Amino acid sequence: MARTRGLTGATQDVVRRHNLAAVLSGVHLRGQASRAELTAALGLNRSTIGALTGDLVAAGLVVEAVPELPGRSAGRPSLLVVPRDDVYVLAVHLGVEGVVAARVALGGRVLDRVLARHEDGGTSPDAVVARIADAVLALDRRGGPGRRCAGIAVAVCGIVRQSDGMVRMAPNLGWTDVPLGRRLAEIAGPDVPVALRNEADLGALAEHLRGAAVGVDDVIFVFGEVGIGGGVLAGGRPVSGRGGYAGEVGHLMVNPAGRTCRCGKVGCWETEVSIDALVSVLGPTGADRTESVRRVLAAAADGVEPARAAVEEFAHWLAVGVGQLVTVFNPEMIILGGMLPAVFAQVRDDVGRKLRAVALPAALEQVRLAVPALGGDAPLLGAAELAFAPLLADPLGVIDAATAT
Ligand SMILES: [Zn+2]
Repeated sequence: MARTRGLTGATQDVVRRHNLAAVLSGVHLRGQASRAELTAALGLNRSTIGALTGDLVAAGLVVEAVPELPGRSAGRPSLLVVPRDDVYVLAVHLGVEGVVAARVALGGRVLDRVLARHEDGGTSPDAVVARIADAVLALDRRGGPGRRCAGIAVAVCGIVRQSDGMVRMAPNLGWTDVPLGRRLAEIAGPDVPVALRNEADLGALAEHLRGAAVGVDDVIFVFGEVGIGGGVLAGGRPVSGRGGYAGEVGHLMVNPAGRTCRCGKVGCWETEVSIDALVSVLGPTGADRTESVRRVLAAAADGVEPARAAVEEFAHWLAVGVGQLVTVFNPEMIILGGMLPAVFAQVRDDVGRKLRAVALPAALEQVRLAVPALGGDAPLLGAAELAFAPLLADPLGVIDAATAT
């Protein structure tokens, strides 16, 4: 028998780290998994899976448990690999109306959350940084002794430079070039990585990993509240562009004769598909946009003007923008998030008809319009996945680095 040359030590280490990442990612995405499931899913043999899970147990990331099976079963059951929920991240959604922060455990379970509305102190950078810091520190303290925070990530209602978390523009907060990433990193300290992305980019990520777009690799998440953000995945990978600004579909120009946008240009998609413009037909309304949208939709359904015409107009421009996305990206799914699902439920047929006049037929045949399976939490849960990414990519590397400091 010919001897095969053994792997060198360095190569073995690379393979082991790659496999540890695959096992921990598999357990994280499933919530928990049996050794048998991991063996089948990852194409590794049973003894390798046993050794890898042993490493992850020793690193304090997972525990192994004997599954409780109904009735008696023949043979020894496959051990369950369960993520430890004292290993967690702090996820934040910095939205137009406030800050939502959550402590999310390895495995994806939301352990607890806090909400702080902007109305209690404005949206100056100092006020918002303090609001985020208070929220994540309060959540972190609830972690108990022995806790490990693997990272902090923020979904931002604005355009974020990926390299350093500079918020280049967040019109709804009144921000231009706010170094939010640097300021939060100063608060977090050197051992806890901080990452920021646009809220729609993270909504797309969460829906792809855990929501409506599981198994769908070509997907666009459109997040419509006051403005419109977009996140694009192509071939399962985020389309971020050179600086991280790709997917800003709200600033596609759709109407050269339209209104001036908060970005300074004229006729952007978000000036036409605007929740605030839609609810303005009611006259002055309270702060509760959700309730205002419900009232406009109810009036439109009864044929009451000007609500009926406003909703029809909204559907027209929604179709115009979605049609451009269909033609440019040929996605399999477009998810309409934020406050769009309520409107879409009422105008679905209208949008479908108009799309046929707008989008390239070959691409239109292949797309499904959907709403988020994760509801309003999609950006928050996407932030959690972003915060977990370094740990999942190299579980032992992150642990080694943390214990070395
Ligand atoms: Zn614009």
